[in-house]
Amino acid sequence: MSSTSEWAASEAARRRTFAVISHPDAGKSTLTEALALHAHAITEAGAVHGKAGRRGVASDWMEMEKTRGISVTSAVLQFAHRGCVLNLLDTPGHADFSEDTYRVLAAVDCAVMLIDAAKGLEEQTRKLFDVCRHRGIPVITFVNKWDRPGREALELLDEIEREFRLKPTPVAWPVGDAGYLRGLIDVRRPGQMLRYARTPGGAREAIEEPVSADRAALEDGADWGKAVEELDLLQIDGAVHDQEAFLACRTTPVFFGAAISNIGVRLLLDAIVDLAPPPGPREVEGGGVRPVDAPFSGLVFKVQANMDPAHRDRIAFMRVCSGIFERGMTVTQAASGKPFATKYAHSVFGQDRSMVDIAYPGDVVGLVNATALRVGDTLYAGQSTVFPPMPTFAPEHFAVARPVDLSRSKQFRRGIAQLDEEGVVQVLVSDLRGDQAPVLAAVGPMQFDVVSARMAGEFSSPVKLETLPYRLARATDTAGAEALNRSRIVQGEALTRIRDKAQLALFPDGWQAGSFEREFPTARLDHLIAAH
Ligand code: GDP
Repeated sequence: MSSTSEWAASEAARRRTFAVISHPDAGKSTLTEALALHAHAITEAGAVHGKAGRRGVASDWMEMEKTRGISVTSAVLQFAHRGCVLNLLDTPGHADFSEDTYRVLAAVDCAVMLIDAAKGLEEQTRKLFDVCRHRGIPVITFVNKWDRPGREALELLDEIEREFRLKPTPVAWPVGDAGYLRGLIDVRRPGQMLRYARTPGGAREAIEEPVSADRAALEDGADWGKAVEELDLLQIDGAVHDQEAFLACRTTPVFFGAAISNIGVRLLLDAIVDLAPPPGPREVEGGGVRPVDAPFSGLVFKVQANMDPAHRDRIAFMRVCSGIFERGMTVTQAASGKPFATKYAHSVFGQDRSMVDIAYPGDVVGLVNATALRVGDTLYAGQSTVFPPMPTFAPEHFAVARPVDLSRSKQFRRGIAQLDEEGVVQVLVSDLRGDQAPVLAAVGPMQFDVVSARMAGEFSSPVKLETLPYRLARATDTAGAEALNRSRIVQGEALTRIRDKAQLALFPDGWQAGSFEREFPTARLDHLIAAH
């Protein structure tokens, strides 16, 4: 083994690349700040993510984001904890979300599922969890807002087990009901309770004081007794952390806390270091894997244009999968077989960028003005390799796009083609509709807003969007597509997706899809990967 591959392997072993998945308002920004604070990446919470009224808006870059106060794009935060390097990839935190979120999950090795103690599992948590399950990403659960009245801890565990078929294995257990938090029991160190002195506003690390079982019993009698009893019950039930079962996505280690007061955050951070898997060998097309100590390879999981309105540039986010990335190295783009020079490599957090000179497996590099790169592209050095394509999710929203000004149809076509390549939306065409009226397909309707904003601002071709009454897409074949377009009974339409030439059959609902299946029993109608 060469010294370079040993170096890559040892750096990979101390990387943890993860995302926080949650429903909006569960506390993702607050938790991100708290994690970074504990890991000492920043000096004061609030400087990382901040929303309106808080300090700093580092991750809000688009005009749309500013006006709505939501994070449309994904950035990366890197920090160190106990000798490990943690890469936290931000997933957009809006209920009305897009394919981007899913792509981020293609670049992580683990996810932290954040749950609001009072609300339990919510819609977006469910959707994102499904993607994790589909991709085999292990999930750590953090029940947040335990400083406020909420549900029973055992009830929340039941909900996770019932709905996600995932056995919760508590690692930090609350003493006191939601809203009456006395402290936490670190299940790995029983016989004591961690008590927290509050730090208002969460601007500093919470002070953690270990309290012996005897003292806890004396001072927090009933709550301590209940917590110990609950933990005993859980142990009898086999709710005990097992690393193998966790990595196989059969169990989820569970933590309780309050991100806003930094309670339970250190335990979570330790768990990310101790339990979350480091980057491992990655499957490649045609079978086999690329080990982390192989020569450099990377996966482009996201392409973002106009991160900096002053420069109108375009950044391709690449996760290093194997080997060592050095800025300036020339690598090969697998799709074209062409060389690609990595002169402009940055680490990116929101609008803040700094040159990155070297990156290891698990790290994310922003390649600036890499116009040739597409989402799903593999870059490599040495032996050629191609990672499997990014999953394309079943669109649920459809709209016909037309140029407002017909004299700008060239710009219109160029813009739509660009947005298709970047994966902002899926573009569907048919002979019937022609190329001046492509159908845009999206997982979340907010993707259409991005199209409107960018077509007007960047391609100088404002668009009119006309929503189509379809909500369901299935994959079909040429015969099925023809049958559907001929049918006078079924409401629906077949179009071709430009990205992969797939024939998609669109229907207003499952009932119409069912009628089509009855009318043409031989037509192929396959489920696409559902976003939920
Ligand atoms: P996001 O939309 O998931 O990023 O959520 P935010 O981090 O913006 O939090 C949403 C709201 O919940 C904000 O008002 C936070 O102050 C509040 N919040 C976050 N964590 C906690 C917590 O641990 N306890 C309480 N009581 N409020 C919290």
